Amino acid sequence: MEDNRKKVVVIGGGITGLAAAFYLQKQTEQPIDVTLIESSNRLGGKIQTVKRDGFIIERGPDSFLERKTSAARLAKEAGVDHLLTNNAAGKAYVLVGEKLHSMPEGAVMGVPTKVAPFATSSLFSLPGKVRASADFILPKSKPIADQSLGHFFRRRLGDEVVENLIEPLLSGIYAGDIDNLSLMATFPNFYHAEQNHRSLVRGMKKLAPTPKHPAPSEKKKGIFLTLTDGLESLVKGIEAKLVPNSVLKNTSVNRIERQPDGRYLLHLSSGQTIEADSIISTVPHTVLPAMLPDYDFFDVFRKMPATTVATVAMAFPASAVKERFDGTGFVVSRNSDYTITACTWTHKKWPHTTPDDKVLLRCYVGRANDEAVVDLPDADIERIVLGDLNRMMDITGKPEFTIISRWHEAMPQYIVGHKERLAAISGYIVNELPGLYMAGSSFNGLGIPDCIDQGEDAVEKVLYYLRT
Ligand code: FAD
Repeated sequence: MEDNRKKVVVIGGGITGLAAAFYLQKQTEQPIDVTLIESSNRLGGKIQTVKRDGFIIERGPDSFLERKTSAARLAKEAGVDHLLTNNAAGKAYVLVGEKLHSMPEGAVMGVPTKVAPFATSSLFSLPGKVRASADFILPKSKPIADQSLGHFFRRRLGDEVVENLIEPLLSGIYAGDIDNLSLMATFPNFYHAEQNHRSLVRGMKKLAPTPKHPAPSEKKKGIFLTLTDGLESLVKGIEAKLVPNSVLKNTSVNRIERQPDGRYLLHLSSGQTIEADSIISTVPHTVLPAMLPDYDFFDVFRKMPATTVATVAMAFPASAVKERFDGTGFVVSRNSDYTITACTWTHKKWPHTTPDDKVLLRCYVGRANDEAVVDLPDADIERIVLGDLNRMMDITGKPEFTIISRWHEAMPQYIVGHKERLAAISGYIVNELPGLYMAGSSFNGLGIPDCIDQGEDAVEKVLYYLRT
């Protein structure tokens, strides 16, 4: 009886692998044994929460977009939705030169959808604004398979809007070089807005969701969600729902072999092997060529870059920090001579993370072509970050503690042609490795909800494969 059950292995216990394993075990369509294999001693991958002296500090991601619903749904299914909380809505800024400028209202990833806030914004010069308004008269571009985000936005809105607003915002998500990142793999909706409405601004205005105006008594909610006990409580919630003994930690999959009968043999770091009818791999793309050495089409991933970044969380007594601005954080334009690329005033954006008489600042360092800082000693990073912050805030003394989290090659870069390359690899996989599926942040979106969507999508594909 037992032998009739199909075996599926999920490789990698980040949020993608957790979602895949959870939904595979939850489905009732087919009897399937699921094993989740994770190389480290913990699940969650890039989701890691540290609790210290009453602070809740995220080493990696701190939240996810509420409008992408799969993460909140998974939190509910994992029984932790009572912990979900929105960020406090507050002003966000862009640092250009030495000045913090308010983000203009109505900007969708930096693309204006309202004219007045742009026309009056201090972020752009008059010639910059005039150039951006050319979007209303420029013809749409010729249909093209892909192009860089930089090329697309510079053509529509000019260099200044790109450099002072769009680039810093998008860098915050991808830590990438906007002139290399693929438009179609990141924000295809911008391309379609232009193609369908000629003007990008008009197109995005049509697509932008109508803002909900809260009742006067209601507090304005932010657009992000996290969990009050830290994002890692989502991981713990899912882990608690997984079938006992279905997770192997401290175990890497070193190599995958396809056997003559079509089943897979996975060689583990423990020296053991494990068989599978189907596999969902959720490891970063950088791992795949070595894991599947007999299939040289994975070599494309050797050329796919991934940026190295670090988060730097600093805790202070409230009396040590004099803020000159009312807001929740800022991103930094490349036109500023700063090392930090972004800073969140975490105690304001996420009040639950910080004791009442304290301040928590979380900065980023490292971005495409500017990653060396990440490998400096902790003391140097702390000094550089404090120096940057002191240029726009008054901070007296040193932090009570600093937590630096280095993320090597952690931000996959979807460079121009990403989708075509993925499609080609998927074609090879269908022919040569049927029943193997790739999901996760290296492929179709790196936000937490995107990763969960990919995990769920891979589950559907596995079920279909095993059924037919
Ligand atoms: P991972 O989390 O990388 O998991 C992959 C797992 O595979 C790891 O646990 C790894 O140990 C394991 N593994 C690797 N090789 C093997 C092997 N051979 N065998 C077995 N296991 C293996 N997203 C948001 O939505 N909001 C944010 O605020 C946000 N901020 C971020 C901040 C930082 C600093 C970073 C780095 C990312 C951020 N992201 C954010 C992106 C998001 O966190 C990631 O894209 C997502 O968590 C990736 O999940 P994953 O499961 O695909 O990969």
